[in-house]
Amino acid sequence: MRLLLVEDEPRLAARLREQLSAQGYAVDVASDGIDAEFQGLEVDYDLIVLDLGLPGRPGLEVLAHWRAQGMRAPVLILTARDGWQERVVGLKAGADDYLGKPFHVEELIARLQAILRRAHGEAAPQLTVGDLVLDEDQRTVSVAGAAPQSLTATEFRLLRCFMLNPDKVLSKSFLTEHVYDQDFDRDSNLIEVYVRRLRERIGEARIATRRGHGYVFVPAAR
Ligand code: CA
Repeated sequence: MRLLLVEDEPRLAARLREQLSAQGYAVDVASDGIDAEFQGLEVDYDLIVLDLGLPGRPGLEVLAHWRAQGMRAPVLILTARDGWQERVVGLKAGADDYLGKPFHVEELIARLQAILRRAHGEAAPQLTVGDLVLDEDQRTVSVAGAAPQSLTATEFRLLRCFMLNPDKVLSKSFLTEHVYDQDFDRDSNLIEVYVRRLRERIGEARIATRRGHGYVFVPAAR
């Protein structure tokens, strides 16, 4: 997987490059809008991470030019945390997803995996967050390189939902909606039962309870 990382802040770019490379991406970095636009058109990337605040040419303009020229690689934009207008404009200009700064790298990686899966219209065999690896074909999870454990269908969908939304408070009703099929009995109390089972499999500390709000999936420390 070849990825173009467009980020002008050198320290952030270096850190992201290292972490994305560790995930198996071949990473090219562009640090201004003009280089980024050229590179994005020149090379056939699988994925692009595009910061919007760039010297040379603003990220939104770069994105619009790419799309106007038929560049089809999926693009995730990095925006200011409270920049909702930017996100709307970015999505309209052809971005596939966005992430507000500052962000956790785990979330960036999970979002990139989800984008890739959608872009390829296929179930990715594996989803990796921290030291958890979820195998979508085998429906197993392995923790820190240990032997894979089989999951029931509901455990699998619940864990997948957690892993795609690390460090976020997820309410029971959100989880219920994302975990059950429509014809399933949507009893949100069942979520508690499944969370308890998942904790037994992946460790108590991975799923924190926020009383009255829901649960937070905590990826392992890097
Ligand atoms: Ca910037």
